Amino acid sequence: MINVTKTFLPDQEKYLQYVREIWDRGYLTNNGPLLQELESELKGYLNVDHLYFCGNGTIVLQLAIKALEINGEVITTPFSYCATSNAILWEKCTPVFVDIDPSTFNINPDLIEQAITPATTAILATHVYGNPCDVEKIEQIAKKHNLKVVYDAAHAFGVTYKGKSLLSYGDISTCSFHATKVFHTIEGGALISNHPELDQKLTLLRAFGHRGDESYYFAGINGKNSEFHAAMGLCNLPHVEEIIAARKDVFTIYDRLLNWDILAKPTHAKDMVYNYAYYPVVFPSETVMKKVMEDLAAEEIIPRRYFYPSLNTLPFMPEYYACPVSEDISLRVLCLPLYVGLPSQDVEHISNIINKSLLSP
Ligand SMILES: *Cc1c(COP(=O)(O)O)cnc(C)c1O
Repeated sequence: MINVTKTFLPDQEKYLQYVREIWDRGYLTNNGPLLQELESELKGYLNVDHLYFCGNGTIVLQLAIKALEINGEVITTPFSYCATSNAILWEKCTPVFVDIDPSTFNINPDLIEQAITPATTAILATHVYGNPCDVEKIEQIAKKHNLKVVYDAAHAFGVTYKGKSLLSYGDISTCSFHATKVFHTIEGGALISNHPELDQKLTLLRAFGHRGDESYYFAGINGKNSEFHAAMGLCNLPHVEEIIAARKDVFTIYDRLLNWDILAKPTHAKDMVYNYAYYPVVFPSETVMKKVMEDLAAEEIIPRRYFYPSLNTLPFMPEYYACPVSEDISLRVLCLPLYVGLPSQDVEHISNIINKSLLSP
């Protein structure tokens, strides 16, 4: 079977060395030495000053909302994973969905201002598939209306925009290091902040708002991560360039072989170095896409409807905001298999099945 993704695993012996180290120390979690080492390595790799390794890519969104004291209405994108809007809801804010740009699939900055009300306090946008949002326009709008900006950069590890890590934009960017992402720590995530003054607060918020000295500051939460997860990160981080290069090879084959007279894909921002996180293709209709899915399934090839459905249509949203572009794209987009070790013959095979399926009624 060929799945949409397959987790990269480092050399087992190297991981076991770390495990033995953890055993020897008997120190398994709570800001341990491997976690601190990983944070320091990540800061170096991404060239950012304030990074906090946490439990996952969802709790970091919640911590960002808490730390920036975001409340009321949050302008957000309907074209993302449900973690983005769930974090807003979980933090008792109201998601206000603004439609996406039909070419980039990122939040359409030209539609943001008309969605701002006196209750709006923030914009939470996703760099979809690792492709940068219009960060300049968003910053301009945020400044003008005194809004906070949080980026869900779960897809954006290793992406640079205008020579800087894409994770360094916004008041806070959050990343996921889940096993399905370009760089992973099994489960994990990070918060990248541009506010040195939030350092204390963020450190405390992810650890119950409590310090070991019997000081209790405020109601924090458990956003911590363990030495075992940090160890996986330390094993994987040296492979990031090689992981991205291998993904690029797969990407290039799809780019070359798929029938672009019929299919479409998002356009990428200029001035970006990409991480090849996902391979989305947009079909002319949901019917055509479903037929392709069936033809792929017959050969045990399992792509993923990602993102689907459009988050503004989820039944538990407090209000419906029409987002016709996102609703349309989400119905007919598929992410194709893309991972390190996917043989080029398989990529060719997948492309051939899709092309054939598109041309047969
Ligand atoms: C993966 C992902 C998340 C959630 O990350 P977890 O680490 O699984 O909690 C959030 N947002 C987006 C866009 C994602 O792709």
